[in-house]
Amino acid sequence: MPSYVITEKCDGCKALDKTACQFICPNDLMVLDKAKMKATNQEPEMCWECYSCVKICPVQAIEVRGYADFVPMGAAVTPMRSTDSIMWTVKFRNGMLKRFKFPIRTTEEGKAVPSGGYATANNDLNDQLLAQEPEALRLNELYTIK
Ligand code: SF4
Ligand code: SF4
Repeated sequence: MPSYVITEKCDGCKALDKTACQFICPNDLMVLDKAKMKATNQEPEMCWECYSCVKICPVQAIEVRGYADFVPMGAAVTPMRSTDSIMWTVKFRNGMLKRFKFPIRTTEEGKAVPSGGYATANNDLNDQLLAQEPEALRLNELYTIK
């Protein structure tokens, strides 16, 4: 089920040039009505429910009705992010609320090492080897098509 905006909560990201949901949607589905300062999902049938807009909205104004295998009976899900965890609130149609909190990182913000601690980093996009190969595979050499 596609994402939808709860217009009472949406403040249009306080008139920024591009709203957070517009910035993050990989399908360019979110649009802002500048007169009303409210966003909408302009093509719900094209939404692949990636939850990016739901997670980035600073005022929790976007919800998704999840599929039955995720949340039964058409419940709506809303995330609340913090620096080290995410809290999902599941709201069932009978009004029942359930909350689940999960850690989202194992290192402090800003402390992650992009190379994963490996000395080598392959920054050549045209190279057939992936970053840190062959070292990360504990090989001296990987055979590639010449
Ligand atoms: S990110 Fe949230 S507050 Fe900002 S425009 Fe989108 S729905 Fe509205
Ligand atoms: S759930 Fe993903 S695809 Fe759907 S509107 Fe939000 S960001 Fe776009």
